[in-house]
Amino acid sequence: MTADAQVQGVPQALAESRTRLPPVVVPTVGLLVAGLALWGWATLLALVWHSPAWVTVPLHTLAVVTLFTVLHEAAHHAAGSLTSVNEVLGRLTLPFVSPFGGFPAARYVHLTQHRSGSPEHLTPWNTRGPAWTLPARWATVDLWYAWRYLSTPGRPTAESAEMLGMLVFLPCVLAAVVGTGHGWELAVVYLVPQRLALTLVSWCHDWRPRRRPTGYHQMHAERPSQPFYRYAAIPAPRAPEPPASAAEAAPAEFHPLTVTGVRWLTGEAVAVTLAVPDGLREVFRFAPGQHLVLRAEIDGEPVERSYAICACPDEPELLVAIKRVPGGRFSEYAMGLRLGDRVLARPPSGTFVLRSQPRHVVAVAAGSGIAPVLPVVVHLLETSPRSRVTLLYVNRSGDDTLFSAELSEYTRRFEGRLRVTHYRTDERDPSLRYSRGSRPFDSIGQALAISYERYVPGGLDPGRIRGLLEARLHPAKVDEWLLCAPSEVAGPVRDALTEHGVPDDVVHVEHFHRP
Ligand SMILES: Cc1cc2nc3c(=O)[nH]c(=O)nc-3n(C[C@H](O)[C@H](O)[C@H](O)COP(=O)(O)OP(=O)(O)OC[C@H]3O[C@@H](n4cnc5c(N)ncnc54)[C@H](O)[C@@H]3O)c2cc1C
Repeated sequence: MTADAQVQGVPQALAESRTRLPPVVVPTVGLLVAGLALWGWATLLALVWHSPAWVTVPLHTLAVVTLFTVLHEAAHHAAGSLTSVNEVLGRLTLPFVSPFGGFPAARYVHLTQHRSGSPEHLTPWNTRGPAWTLPARWATVDLWYAWRYLSTPGRPTAESAEMLGMLVFLPCVLAAVVGTGHGWELAVVYLVPQRLALTLVSWCHDWRPRRRPTGYHQMHAERPSQPFYRYAAIPAPRAPEPPASAAEAAPAEFHPLTVTGVRWLTGEAVAVTLAVPDGLREVFRFAPGQHLVLRAEIDGEPVERSYAICACPDEPELLVAIKRVPGGRFSEYAMGLRLGDRVLARPPSGTFVLRSQPRHVVAVAAGSGIAPVLPVVVHLLETSPRSRVTLLYVNRSGDDTLFSAELSEYTRRFEGRLRVTHYRTDERDPSLRYSRGSRPFDSIGQALAISYERYVPGGLDPGRIRGLLEARLHPAKVDEWLLCAPSEVAGPVRDALTEHGVPDDVVHVEHFHRP
């Protein structure tokens, strides 16, 4: 066990839930090839060799069920770490499974079901109503998907356009085939096997698990992005830990710490260094991402507030960054702290810590939200040479960005393992006009490091978040997420992650303030 993991209150040795995927998952591609080959062979049997329908329909049905499996894998980004592979496989297989809709739209509806948790991730349409109507419901579940999507407002334009395009295009092709006198062939080769396959899949994956939950469905609800063939190897979910006893949960006592440094980070934020007496070193040992509760007597009343520890665990002193909240009692008081002042501090606590040493972490921070994120990121990059971090950092302008110089220094030091995108909501911010040619570099390394920081005008709005999650930062390429920002930024990010099926246990959220 590492020294950090021994710190009280830090989750220890949690099981890794995300499995790394190869760029293309071979068993899934194997299923695709098998499904297409079977479909093609059954079609030849039906149309060229005129085999009877009772021979070809079951073969076509089996082929569609196989292709449905590939479609489902692609919807969960489990067909490979490459987004393009999942997109191609999803688009290729969907028309075999249903003529009504586009792959991104179907994926959205399915992931929304997962988002509502088990067992509700099962399609409700398939389990409601009198028993005699169920087979008809199962056979038409794709129409429910289409209706569900079309009644959801505010979906991205490209996704809706693809959905509507497919909704018009495929039924028109089918109508044309019927119009040319091939209705019977269409029914035998395409329509009947497809409805039978949907009936089978709905019965097996929606109706049956409600009555008799299976290990597969439980695993899939908890780890939806695992490829199908790995379920057997996943250990059964552990029972939740019993709640901590009242004695364990009781707040620890406060200790006086001396202010040994005060540095203005911006006009509205101050970094305060606190010395830890030798006798309290063990008590104040912390994991990156944990915070202190500071206490001060303000206007005759004790006021306690939490502040993230911005130092790394091997540093001899504690450091907190406090941003002024206009009219705020403690933060206004902290702006006046001087060297030698004494502040009461409770020993470190908090669970804003990484589970393991993930390969790729994406951190989203806004304003003072960088305070707990920075030590987690730096500690990871220092201790795990194979890890990399993408930081999305939202601020009004460069003038009120905390730790901007330190971040630039870290991007240089970690040589591409730390990439920062600065979102600046004040579009007049000079950094946005900043170009390579306008600043002298001391070395080639320094010049190259500039590319690890990008400046983007505007905030991190839901559209941007979705765009990132669907491409560069697709959840399949990210092992853990750190999120510390006000609700207007954190809320949409959290929603988008849930929408993309990211399990809660790899998303670490720190709330500074709930209005
Ligand atoms: C785990 C944790 C870690 C934290 N780490 C940091 C940190 O590293 N740096 C830091 O600057 N702050 C941090 N905070 C926030 C900090 O604890 C205080 O809430 C903040 O400094 C305001 O306290 P105050 O006494 O000045 O304001 P208060 O007197 O409590 O509030 C004054 C007004 O401001 C509003 N308000 C309070 N806090 C905020 C806020 N954060 N944003 C917007 N409005 C607010 C209140 O609703 C009230 O209307 C952290 C909070 C938590 C829970």
